[in-house]
Amino acid sequence: MGAPRCTSCSKFVPIELGEPEISETEIDEENNIIGQVRLIKNCGECDQEMAEAYVDVEIEVAERCKCDTTLEVDEETAESTDEGGGRYKKRMIGADLTYTLSCPECNKTFTATGHVEEAAGNFDDCQ
Ligand SMILES: [Zn+2]
Ligand SMILES: [Zn+2]
Repeated sequence: MGAPRCTSCSKFVPIELGEPEISETEIDEENNIIGQVRLIKNCGECDQEMAEAYVDVEIEVAERCKCDTTLEVDEETAESTDEGGGRYKKRMIGADLTYTLSCPECNKTFTATGHVEEAAGNFDDCQ
């Protein structure tokens, strides 16, 4: 498979990873973080989005206070990761996720981290 062709600048281009986008974050009854991350491949020439993959997030919040309330999400960050791609290992594109949560009752804060990834070949072309 050769380099993909960008629909915007019409060149065969190298791919750059876009900023992963976190969405639909919720905390369920068991204090797990549920959500979704959109992973993006961009054109290396003009930054046009070329392909995307949606992956589900499920992260257990290990630590919490004794209050009987649902934690709130204060901050969520995602950093793109790019692994493998050698002869023996599939290339995996993903994101390292960090969520900062707080308890609305006692104001304690908690941090939860996780990782999501998708095989580079499983991305769908952006329309
Ligand atoms: Zn382009
Ligand atoms: Zn609390």
